[in-house]
Amino acid sequence: MLFRVRDAAFCLVAALSMMRDSEIHEIRRGAVVQHYNAPAIKSTLDKGRAGRPGKHWWITEPVAEAITLAEIVSVHEDRVFSPLKRPESTEAVHGDQMIDAFITEANSSRSWTGLDEIPDGRVRPHMFRRTMAMLTDQFPGSEIALGIQLKHVAARALANRTTLSYAAGDAQWAELLETALEATRFRRFKDLYGQHKAGTSIGYGPGADRVKEVFDEIISSARANGGDSRVEDDLLRKARITIRFGMLNNCLFDEANPKGAVCLENAVIPQGHTGPLEGRCRPDRCRNSVIGIEHVPLYDSHRRTQLKLLQTRRLPAARKAIIRREVERVDAVLAQVNEENT
Ligand code: SF4
Repeated sequence: MLFRVRDAAFCLVAALSMMRDSEIHEIRRGAVVQHYNAPAIKSTLDKGRAGRPGKHWWITEPVAEAITLAEIVSVHEDRVFSPLKRPESTEAVHGDQMIDAFITEANSSRSWTGLDEIPDGRVRPHMFRRTMAMLTDQFPGSEIALGIQLKHVAARALANRTTLSYAAGDAQWAELLETALEATRFRRFKDLYGQHKAGTSIGYGPGADRVKEVFDEIISSARANGGDSRVEDDLLRKARITIRFGMLNNCLFDEANPKGAVCLENAVIPQGHTGPLEGRCRPDRCRNSVIGIEHVPLYDSHRRTQLKLLQTRRLPAARKAIIRREVERVDAVLAQVNEENT
């Protein structure tokens, strides 16, 4: 019975937390904590990091309950999901075996649980991560959340190739993730269209002007055709605008026509790389840049910080020059905002 409870708890944690098999095995007693006022599991990041740093994974109430139960049945003095020995075997039990045992148990108990049969097929912990990635992606802003939860460094929303390439080893999943990201992008693009149609500003800069022109054309075409929102959706999908939503700006980089992308000017482009080089982004100069309403406070705050830094006594001249250049860039971005608001 203890094994069954532990197996079920393991499946629930693997399914809902996006943790790796190895990270679940690292969970210690008392690992459920509050992290930024939300329940979280504290464990050790096991992959790709030296020193196995401690990390937090946000969880929901059922996951917290599952860990509490697993903690109660665990015979290990410290670990919650330590491989227990089954009575009939001297082999240690791992994630794969716990999932297989759970499926066998769930299917053989259907007469009293009334649950649907879990179909034949191989189920492994990493598949839960991917499934959750797919499901989570159905919500706005999700790539940032996915990046945080999957422990990929999300440098830029909806443009982070690490999170996106999470399923790269599995072409089918990579395709599904790409599709989901496209769906998220389209949703946000449609929101912008709604704002523009309602007369609200959607942003600033040369990129924003291009987007507004396209939106105006769509509004006119839809009106001319007596179109409803479905016609508008169709026109939006056909609009030749590719947009990446970012932390510091949105980018209209078009792979079919990369001309004008400032980030690619004089750049050494890594072999096989397609798309913009976000680390070299120049929102102050690039015709693809859209400064969204949400970005303006960031630039305001950045400018104030830089000006304050300039007041520092005995700042080396070279450092001062770098700060001044940064202020000039921020001023150029904010000038795009002021231009439209005056
Ligand atoms: S400079 Fe920035 S806005 Fe322009 S293409 Fe590159 S990433 Fe996009």
